[in-house]
Amino acid sequence: MTSHIMPTYARQAVTFERGEGAWLWDSNDNRYLDALAGIAVCNLGHAHPAIHHAISQQSQKLIHTSNLYGVQLQEELADKLCRLSGMESVFFCNSGAEANEAAIKIARKYGHQQGIDRPVIVTMEKSFHGRTMGSLSATGNSKVKQGFAPLLEGFVHVPYNDMATLESTVSSDTNVVAILVEPIQGEGGVNIPDSHYLNQVRELCDKKGLLMMVDEIQTGIGRTGKFLAYQHNGILPDVCTLAKALGNGVPIGACMARGKAAEILSPGAHGSTFGGNPLACSAALAVIDTLCASDLIADAESKGQTICAGIARQTAGNPHIVSIRHKGLMIGIELDTPCGELVAKALQKNLLINVTADNTIRLLPPLTISDEQIALLTDTLSALIQEQTP
Ligand SMILES: *Cc1c(COP(=O)(O)O)cnc(C)c1O
Repeated sequence: MTSHIMPTYARQAVTFERGEGAWLWDSNDNRYLDALAGIAVCNLGHAHPAIHHAISQQSQKLIHTSNLYGVQLQEELADKLCRLSGMESVFFCNSGAEANEAAIKIARKYGHQQGIDRPVIVTMEKSFHGRTMGSLSATGNSKVKQGFAPLLEGFVHVPYNDMATLESTVSSDTNVVAILVEPIQGEGGVNIPDSHYLNQVRELCDKKGLLMMVDEIQTGIGRTGKFLAYQHNGILPDVCTLAKALGNGVPIGACMARGKAAEILSPGAHGSTFGGNPLACSAALAVIDTLCASDLIADAESKGQTICAGIARQTAGNPHIVSIRHKGLMIGIELDTPCGELVAKALQKNLLINVTADNTIRLLPPLTISDEQIALLTDTLSALIQEQTP
């Protein structure tokens, strides 16, 4: 049968029908362990009763009105997000790329307010910020940009975790208005910067009057062991973008801002038809309430440690393992050789994983993963790594 889906994805030959927590079942009722959670989306696992309850209740009342009117659940969600993040105002949209588009527009307007006609945003090499033309232009990965020229002007890329180059770049270009950075690069290979990197970026932005914009789309909502990854550094950015796990699978994105950045977009300057509708907000509110009423965020670090220690123990002495690194439940296992075929091999063993940057196995399991599931994950994956690199 020929598919009528536009072939933008090289899909694995499996179709899932239902899930529960970190388990998924395919159309033949085979069970799989999901160590990817829809790429850091289903942080509460599949078919979580609180999400099910929230969206089924809300769908009986009201799914959508318009941002031309007040939206009570949006108010409540913005309230909770600001209380948890230290930010002051929120623009709601439907995806990560859109959240970053809002951030890019805030930065550009911020520049124009200061008489900078051609504002420049510094972003990082190997970064990923989305697929729309603006977020793609911000992205520091030439592979995903291939064939889409002309890209937007106004972006300069510098190496990640390299303060010297970042400082010299913002000092030599007076058009720079903002720095956009991921706390940990996800698509770029689970790259964890030096522990004070974000503090140094913050200081540099303060010194130069630049907006510090943090893309927490993959790292946010508890993934790294704090609600937001920048909270490990005790700093506040000026702009922070969210999406992925915010709705546990119900599409919702957010661009949060603080201080001068919070007042830049005025009526008519930006918008979204669907953004922050009652259904999406009800899901996000259930996500936040569930996380806050549990130890899931606090436990992410020890669960990540258990997974990494288990894999390290079971692959000890394997010279092809370059590094096993993690922050909370954002985990990368870097091999010295491309290992993309491990995804299909793991699937044959009923395990869902991902490989990014060609040679790094990426694990983003639900925060709800149990001890038994962790043991199954480490046993299965360690055996696959040992087979892959004998
Ligand atoms: C996934 C991701 C995006 C893009 O999000 P979409 O919802 O796919 O548009 C942007 N930035 C980061 C860091 C991401 O991981």
